[in-house]
Parts: sequence; structure tokens; C-alpha cells
Amino acid sequence: MLLIDGSYGEGGGQIVRTAVALSVLTKQPITITNIRANRPIPGLRPQHYTALSCIQRICDAEVEGVSVHSTSLMFTPHDIKPGTYIFDIGTAGSMTLVFQACLLSAFHTSTPLTIKLRGGSDVRWAPSWDYFTSVFLPLISTIGIKTESQLIKRGYYPTGGGEAILTIYPVEKLIPFHGEEPQNFTDMQGIIHRANLPDHISTRMKHAAIKIAMKHNLRSTLQIDAASSTSSGTGITLWSASGPTILGSSVLGEKTISAEEIGETAANQLIQEITSGATIDRYAIDQILPYFVLAPKGSACLTREISNHTKTNMWLIKQFFNVDFEVTPQQAAIRIVVK
Ligand code: ATP
Repeated sequence: MLLIDGSYGEGGGQIVRTAVALSVLTKQPITITNIRANRPIPGLRPQHYTALSCIQRICDAEVEGVSVHSTSLMFTPHDIKPGTYIFDIGTAGSMTLVFQACLLSAFHTSTPLTIKLRGGSDVRWAPSWDYFTSVFLPLISTIGIKTESQLIKRGYYPTGGGEAILTIYPVEKLIPFHGEEPQNFTDMQGIIHRANLPDHISTRMKHAAIKIAMKHNLRSTLQIDAASSTSSGTGITLWSASGPTILGSSVLGEKTISAEEIGETAANQLIQEITSGATIDRYAIDQILPYFVLAPKGSACLTREISNHTKTNMWLIKQFFNVDFEVTPQQAAIRIVVK
């Protein structure tokens, strides 16, 4: 039984989801203590509970302590059972974080496996739906992970009510990621989403982002996704692709912040990633590291910043695998090579 201290580093939900996913992948039973010890309300929240319940069903795991508020758990995984799994987070908890954990657990499935979720599609401190489907999933597809995703309805804080589906296809072969060279980014793409809010909000956000892109000689193609939903909200996700990679940024709308400022912030964040010479942005890096390690040796990338989430995932991965990460400054970025 591997013992993981959930308070290590960032000490949030990510360490729990990733530890359980790696437990399934390596068939290593684990105990996690001090769950979310560094958060104001420690213990599992509904979103973490849903991710763990979904993974438990996918691999028929024996568990103890998987319940909302729990601060320690035991997880003994078995084989992946392909099929269709349906879960309701019950709040606006992030569907993308649940999908991410299930995907890492289950990509060795022998036949397609489908997960249908209800929850938040675009919520704070989590990948936006468009970041997940236009940045993260395409990035890991270059490593050999095959998926299909569908958004049925957006869901925002506080009521959620979003719906989405992810199908995970069996992997044929994993390929190392080669992002060791800075790329030349010439385009900015993006989606501005809004539900139950007036037209002008997305138009103003769009124009503000385009203005910044023009200043930096980026051609932009931005779409507006307007719909009605059970909850109201807005936000913008931008990305830029070149060679093997895609960099992204996203900002959620807030009542106290103008649409112009949201559009500008998202565009400026993308520009910051581009000008740093990064090949993986500061959010994707912690999420993609497990795939780097599972692919044959040799994955490498440049990133702008090593966040606490990334440091935590590096530490966690080393609890399961005999690997190391070479981390060296390279001009304005940081080079990471899996050893
Ligand atoms: P907690 O409530 O404990 O913070 P959590 O599971 O919701 O738990 P974290 O442990 O902080 O949250 O993990 C959040 C994950 O979401 C990390 O992988 C982080 O990289 C990712 N993330 C956060 N914000 C963004 C963003 N704007 N774009 C993409 N990914 C993001």
C-alpha cells in the first residue's frame, strides 16, 4: 500500500484525483491522508467525490473513506470495465476536472468507454470547457490519447446544470512529446461563451481580445457561442497552435469586471505564454506531466512557470514511477525533460 500525504505542496484536490488515477494505471493500492489540508474547508468536496466515485466504478475498486468531507481514503483498483458511466456532480463543480481524472485512469481501456456528466462547464480554478477540448485534449492526442467530447449545455456557478460527454478510445501507441524548440505562433483562435446574457457582452469581449492580437501581429478567429442554460455566465478561451503544440488562456466573466477587461486579460495571458517561448502553457503543464511519463522516454517541453500544482504533480509522479524531471532555465522559459 502506497501512502500519499495529501497536504504535500499545493495540497488541494488535484493531488487526490491524480493519485487515484495513477493508482488505477499502476494497479497500486493507495492510502491518501490529509486530503485538501491546505484548503479553507479540508476534505473531499462534491466535485472530488464525483471524480473518485466515477473512477471507482470504472475499475471496480475497493474503497474506504470516499465520501464528501472525508480527509483520508483507501483505494484498491481492479481492471478497467469499459461501458457508459453517468454522474451528476450535483453542484457547479468542474466537469472538466472530473473528465481529466477519469481519462488518466481509463485510457488503457480495451474498448470505448463513455462518461456523461452534469455539473459546471466553465468555473473558476479549473480548465474551461473550451480549454479542455481545444487545448488539453488536442495536446494529449499528439501523445496518442484518443477521445471524443461533446458539450450539451454549459453550466455556471452557482447552480451548474451543465452537461457533457467524453468518450475514451483504446490507445494504440503512446508517443513522446517533442516540444523542446520555441515555436512561431501566428494565429489566435478562440471561443466566447455566454448563457442568458445580452449580445453586447460577447461582442465587446471579442473586440477587446482582437485589438490585443492585432498589436502582436496575430491573425484572430473568434467565435461566439451563445445559448440559454439553467445558469447564467460568460467567459473567453483563447489558443494558438504551432508545430506540435497549442498554448491557451481563459478568463471567466465576473459582474464587477467589464467585458473589455476580460477579453484583454485573456489575450494578454496568451501573449505572455507566446512571448516566453513556452510550448506548454502554465496550466497544461501539471495536467500533461503524467502522460509525458507514461509515454516512452524522451518527452520534453518549455514552460513559462512551474506552478505549485506542477511541483506537486512532479513529486506525486515520482511516488509511483522511477522517473526524474530535469528542470533548467532556457531564456525566458523553463525546460522540462523526463528522465
Ligand atoms: P481545490 O478545491 O482543492 O482547489 P480542485 O480540485 O478544484 O481542488 P486544484 O487542486 O487547485 O483544484 O486543481 C485545479 C486544476 O485545474 C489544476 O490542474 C490546474 O492546472 C487547473 N486549472 C486551474 N485554472 C485553470 C485555467 N484557468 N485553465 C486551465 N486549467 C486550470
